[in-house]
Amino acid sequence: MQKLDNMNILENSITPFLISVEKVAHVQPNNTIEHALLILIKSGYTSIPVLDTNFSLHGLISKAQILDSILGIERMEPERLQETKVADVMTTSIARCKDSETFEKVLSYSINHPFICVEDQSGAFLGIITRSKLLAYLNGYLHETKKKGRY
Ligand code: AMP
Repeated sequence: MQKLDNMNILENSITPFLISVEKVAHVQPNNTIEHALLILIKSGYTSIPVLDTNFSLHGLISKAQILDSILGIERMEPERLQETKVADVMTTSIARCKDSETFEKVLSYSINHPFICVEDQSGAFLGIITRSKLLAYLNGYLHETKKKGRY
């Protein structure tokens, strides 16, 4: 069986996997968490990027973080939804990489992250790459390789 680290695929560019910025659901740091929750529920996504008006990446916000932030001692406190800003709740721990990164590197990031944020050399947000897209491609590649009898 051919060793995975000998496959050229690992050196491939990640740009074909990019979901570009205009297709990425996002919120801004000064939006309320109520607005963020609406976007998250309507889009069906678990977590989305937080971008400023210049499309710089500041963090990620998830449904779980929002729900946790309105959890009182004895009850949910939904009034906090309108009082709290996204910047106060988002995480700044982000899986991110440059657009020059290889498939191999991004695949390894995706082990622990459902999506990875991609930036250009100047730090401008370009979009995201999802784990599901990487795995779908890898699955197709491995099937093709098997069909061709390479292992
Ligand atoms: P998927 O692999 O398509 O299920 O996406 C995994 C995760 O990536 C989603 O739960 C979201 O957190 C994020 N995601 C995928 N597509 C988008 C998008 N167009 N805009 C914002 N976040 C997205």
